[in-house]
Amino acid sequence: MAFSNEQLERYSRHIILKEVGAKGQKKLLNAKVLIIGAGGLGAPAAMYLAAAGVGTIGIADADEVDLSNLQRQIIHSTQDIGKPKVESAKETMEAINPDVTVKTYHTFVTSENILDLVKKYDFIIDGTDNFPAKFLINDACVMAKKPFSHAGIIRFKGQLMTYVPGEGPCYRCVFKNPPPKDAVPTCKQAGVIGAMGGVIGSLQAMEAIKYIIGQGELLTGYLLTHDALKMEFRKVKLPSDTHNCAVCGDHPTITELIDYEQAECDGVHL
Ligand SMILES: [Zn+2]
Repeated sequence: MAFSNEQLERYSRHIILKEVGAKGQKKLLNAKVLIIGAGGLGAPAAMYLAAAGVGTIGIADADEVDLSNLQRQIIHSTQDIGKPKVESAKETMEAINPDVTVKTYHTFVTSENILDLVKKYDFIIDGTDNFPAKFLINDACVMAKKPFSHAGIIRFKGQLMTYVPGEGPCYRCVFKNPPPKDAVPTCKQAGVIGAMGGVIGSLQAMEAIKYIIGQGELLTGYLLTHDALKMEFRKVKLPSDTHNCAVCGDHPTITELIDYEQAECDGVHL
């Protein structure tokens, strides 16, 4: 596949990088990334991946755009209120870059549909806002042997980790089980600074890009935490022993996907 003149210009700042080059840009154009959640994290991740020329981007979300979303979900505009988030996101991504094919899934991910969905993609971004979805995405990615980026945000804090099969702990290795229902405040209850989605969602896009082009070191085996009020980033090394994990360990006890019943919560264990 040769680049068109337009593509050479569009991706010139990538192609000039020795870590990307024409080869890396072609990898991006051939890559398929699934973003689950078109909200605070998914919005910037989707926009940067579309701009980067990731050829196929899937986006799954069951919600419609609400006025209270617009403070942080920058892929949606005031005129999109009431529209399915996946449709609004698709329009923005296609406007940024016509090279990108956007596939929309206007649905909740559940134990019934998630495996078929993740199997179609090379890398998955967890942009959800609740623990049941986060554990479901983790377990599905472990079972389907797919790499994914986990993230969560609340108030002025965020966290991030990357799972690559066979190369380090999964989300369940670290966090075991969802916290008890209502034990953790939701973003709606606790608030979240809008730019936090930009910081952490952009880092998720960065992990996806590095994975696709095969450059640099991924956040596997580490949890990155960010405290914006102190402007601190901490990269915490995670235990490397995955043998006893209930899903990715040597003798998994979780062999089927679980739909946890829980109120919406933020998905941050800070
Ligand atoms: Zn594990």
